[in-house]
Amino acid sequence: MNVIILGPPGAGKGTQARFLTEKMGLIQLSTGDLLRSAAAAGTEIGLRAKAVMDAGNLVSDEIVIGVVSDRLDQPDVRSGVIFDGFPRTAAQAVALDRLMDEKGLTLDAVVSMDVDDDLLVDRVSGRFTCAACGEGYHDTHKRPAKDGVCDNCGSTEFKRRADDNAETVRARLNAYHADTAPLIDYYRGTGKLKTVDGMAGIEEVAVAIRAALD
Ligand code: AMP
Repeated sequence: MNVIILGPPGAGKGTQARFLTEKMGLIQLSTGDLLRSAAAAGTEIGLRAKAVMDAGNLVSDEIVIGVVSDRLDQPDVRSGVIFDGFPRTAAQAVALDRLMDEKGLTLDAVVSMDVDDDLLVDRVSGRFTCAACGEGYHDTHKRPAKDGVCDNCGSTEFKRRADDNAETVRARLNAYHADTAPLIDYYRGTGKLKTVDGMAGIEEVAVAIRAALD
């Protein structure tokens, strides 16, 4: 099964995509993660993308589509993919249709996570993750049971994304409304759109997504 998770920054796309990888054996294809890895590795594309990401703007369609195309050429995607953070523009959605066709893959569903903007700035600006296992935390809503120690794996190393601050989140939300939200109608037109209430708790949202995909 190949699925897109659509939603604004902070909606919980990454968290829900991780659940689906565990529960359904799908591969998480996060363009944000791929671009951050490229930036950390210091590749030319990564360095070009980093400045744009740090400002909260969208990286060019050309770069992102290239990154996705390369990732879709790896054999593990045959077990099924969750697209997390892609597509984000109409041009990317059209390119994804073409890439899937060329590579003999089918898009089965698009899950749209509906969340109010007011919640998102707070959610994103307080979040951090375990550097070892990727478990997600939040300064006020979800601290580790023992301060400084990951509940999941016991690691004491945590990290925060450079673009998770209030000012950049507002730029990312603007980009979402201008370029990405119109994709909801695009996918509604294909009959593949499922909408879930992303304001509910993490577990409840996970159950709603599984039900929508069953
Ligand atoms: P994310 O991890 O999905 O929140 O993405 C972090 C940042 O990476 C975004 O704010 C963009 O700068 C960039 N990015 C990730 N995915 C895309 C995409 N599909 N199109 C353009 N830029 C992207």
